[in-house]
Amino acid sequence: MTAVEVSQAQELLTILIRLQVLYNRLHHVRQQQGDLPFQIEDLQAKAMALKHEANELAEQVHRIEHEIRSLFTSNESLRDQQQKLQKMLNSIRNEQEFFRVKNDLEETNLTIQRNIKTISRLQKELSEKQAELDAKQNALAETQEIILDKEEKLRHVLQITTAQEEKLLERIRTVSEELQMKNPRLYQLFERRRRSMRESKALVPILCIDQESNMVACGGCYRLLPRQLHWELTQRNQVYICESCGRFLVDASFFEEVASTME
Ligand SMILES: [Zn+2]
Repeated sequence: MTAVEVSQAQELLTILIRLQVLYNRLHHVRQQQGDLPFQIEDLQAKAMALKHEANELAEQVHRIEHEIRSLFTSNESLRDQQQKLQKMLNSIRNEQEFFRVKNDLEETNLTIQRNIKTISRLQKELSEKQAELDAKQNALAETQEIILDKEEKLRHVLQITTAQEEKLLERIRTVSEELQMKNPRLYQLFERRRRSMRESKALVPILCIDQESNMVACGGCYRLLPRQLHWELTQRNQVYICESCGRFLVDASFFEEVASTME
């Protein structure tokens, strides 16, 4: 293990513990936001895709409706035509003329029939597209509702955590300045560790693995530590650093003792 030579070790260790406790609290506060911002981002992307799909479907529905309408209109005028031709047919004496009109009439009938078939196919297609569109719009509305709900939650969490965060950062500044004044080298060492460690944990209490044999491990990397370290840490007259992960090590009861005096 590495020992950092310092005078007034207990006082410095106390400051280090206070600083770490504040950083632990800060981490906890920031944790409360969780992944809500990411969830909202994902949902917004999903909502945008749904909106795009719904718009496309609405356009298709609109186009089919237009097609059906124009087929109905065309059939109406074809029926007028049909009546006219029928009348003509009844009054024609000329054989050639008769066959021409008869042909026209058959052609008109066929077109009407064809249009009716097309209309029925389009109506089926329309109801399918409409159902698809309804489903998309429902999914979109649902997603937007979830987004609103999550945004509300995030706002609520932020309302609470922003104030807490600011307060903690202020206290961290004060304690950091105190440490920097008393021992700039130790402060820098702590800061470097804190920046590189997960969850800003630059200092950890050691873990007692076995009470009887005094087996202890680093509370950060869980590496076993030399037995005599436990005793040495209880003396509080030197600053120790874990050789494998580089975190500052303190006795667990010392850590608790300092943490419990903090509001
Ligand atoms: Zn370690």
